[in-house]
Amino acid sequence: MLEDSSNHTYFGIKARWIYTANKHQELLQNHTVFIKNRLIEKIIPSDSSSQSDIIDLGESILTPGLINMHTHSAMTFLKGIADDQKLSDWLEQSIWPNEAKYLSHDLVYEASQLACLEMISSGVTTFNDMYFYPEATAKAAIKFGLRANIGLIFIDFKTNYANDFSDYFDKGFAFRDHFRDESLISTSLAPHAPYTVSDESFKKIRTYADQLGLNIHCHLHETQWEIDESLKKFGIRPIDRLHKLGILGPDFMGVHCVHLNESDLRLIESNQINIISCPSSNLKLASGIPPVNSMIKRGKLVTLGTDGSASNNKLSVLDDLKLFSLLQRNDGKEHEFLKSQDLMDMVTINAAESLDLDDEIGSIELGKKADLVAFDLSNIFTQPVYDPLSSLIYSGSRDNVQHVWVDGELKFKNKQLVNIADAESVIEKVKLWKNKIQ
Ligand SMILES: [Zn+2]
Repeated sequence: MLEDSSNHTYFGIKARWIYTANKHQELLQNHTVFIKNRLIEKIIPSDSSSQSDIIDLGESILTPGLINMHTHSAMTFLKGIADDQKLSDWLEQSIWPNEAKYLSHDLVYEASQLACLEMISSGVTTFNDMYFYPEATAKAAIKFGLRANIGLIFIDFKTNYANDFSDYFDKGFAFRDHFRDESLISTSLAPHAPYTVSDESFKKIRTYADQLGLNIHCHLHETQWEIDESLKKFGIRPIDRLHKLGILGPDFMGVHCVHLNESDLRLIESNQINIISCPSSNLKLASGIPPVNSMIKRGKLVTLGTDGSASNNKLSVLDDLKLFSLLQRNDGKEHEFLKSQDLMDMVTINAAESLDLDDEIGSIELGKKADLVAFDLSNIFTQPVYDPLSSLIYSGSRDNVQHVWVDGELKFKNKQLVNIADAESVIEKVKLWKNKIQ
């Protein structure tokens, strides 16, 4: 029934629970979502009749597709390399030399495909990327039908991808023009970080952002080293510098924000910055523990990213969601915590809003695109179910992902990738890269 339904332009999904992520945070019970021509057409109470164009999920919860707000997809090729080195050795001896030696369009294309397959299998339907050869990552996303917001990377030094700012600019905008009509692809400007981008480049990026209405995606205050270097070189903290350059604003997505003092938090609040937290990456790289309670209070929207596979060996947003929630308790004090609906909103509707895609995706509402995930809650890990979202976040994992639809198309069915041409060859190609490196 499911196989047939996926190919129809009209089908229904009947679920025990549906978390809509609408503005009332409605959790529906025993409803059916109908999809027509890739869009959500209606949501109505389920009836007991069985119809051939209705997929019955059983004891599952249907949610909007998860959104991974920060990753470097192609870094799957360095997944697990030198995990036990300290950060400076890891970067200087493993990550940077291998990127310098091997980075190419083909590597990014092949390694990004592995990331896309992992993300689909983890319930992710949209990812927000920043890396070299953005066109290769976009091609990988399109190949497997995943939605992606691709950053046009800017970094003030030469790499295999580009020579200088104007070269990054030319290549980035050529990519953007080429993919302009791809409905699964959107773009942002992605200056890498305050310590790799000059004042002059940041000013140009602000001008392009204003002229083209593009968001800015940038690492910010990830490590104490970054702040110390800025104080030495510019006499001010990185966020102060970006504020003086006019970079900050509601269109700015600051990634990490691990080290924040009261003055930084005031700038975050007054500029209405979107924060993208990557708690697993921060802990794995010993960057610090993100101040999640301050972020929640002071950020415009707080969302979650996995970061790349080199610094978080799993592209599983659910893992980071649980960790983020647990870190609310890290202060050892009794206070209000985010409820399960608030947590789920971080990785769905709030993420869509940060990307300016909330008119199209992020919630299960009429007229939105059918980016959906069904999580099976019937097994021993998640039973009994008092609150299905709590069960999913605290007892479940990506192993509970049952089905995934992107843009109304079934990509994952009964815990297996479907409609994916050559998943095995993707793994083999990335293994070949690994063999070259070692
Ligand atoms: Zn990153």
